Amino acid sequence: MKQKETLLTTSLSEQKIELSHLIIEEMGDEHKASSVDTPMRADAFDKTDEEKIAIIEPHFRAIMETLGMDLNDDSLRGTPLRVAKMYVKELFQGLNPANMPSMTLFENKFQYNEMLVEKNINFYTNCEHHFVPFFGKAHVAYISSGKVIGLSKLNRLVEYYSKRPQVQERLTMQIGKALQTVLQTQDVAVFLDAKHLCVASRGVKDDSSNTITSFYGGKFQEENTKAEFLKYLDINA
Ligand SMILES: [Zn+2]
Repeated sequence: MKQKETLLTTSLSEQKIELSHLIIEEMGDEHKASSVDTPMRADAFDKTDEEKIAIIEPHFRAIMETLGMDLNDDSLRGTPLRVAKMYVKELFQGLNPANMPSMTLFENKFQYNEMLVEKNINFYTNCEHHFVPFFGKAHVAYISSGKVIGLSKLNRLVEYYSKRPQVQERLTMQIGKALQTVLQTQDVAVFLDAKHLCVASRGVKDDSSNTITSFYGGKFQEENTKAEFLKYLDINA
């Protein structure tokens, strides 16, 4: 009798594990983000980039070998190291706050206090649920509170937050909140229009859809300011 009880408990808890795994997997496929901050471990930067590359290389080799690929082939031999370097030094270098671009502000000498829009900033990032790219255009705007920023810094900031495993909602909010902090104003808008390869090349295989996300702070929450911003983007939303 006792044994049966134990069996029942085990199978119940196994079911539970399976269920929560399923929920987590589904959550990933729906691309739901859990928080504005990228979820990071406390020891995220204890290792150097070189140490991380040395660890990732054999792991990626194991993935390829498990898939049945012959790593003795000249074309494949260098791939594990190439991928490890690309992850650490390029695609995901924005995980490290040390790589945040410096954001120098200038006094707004011209007293320009209208809206400034920087549109069509190309960005490339990777979906944190599938590790395949999503990419598109970012449009950002702000109304100066007395300080201005070099225009290229807006591109750099978008790029910095793109160089992380991402979800589009979080990327949008991270850019928006960082701009609010840097520019010392709430009056910031961010608009992202992106194509997700995890939707286009797999899953539902819809390659015609785009995903739009936006962030409106301060005055941009007012209908006329928001409408002016969208008018510059040539978008009726
Ligand atoms: Zn995805």
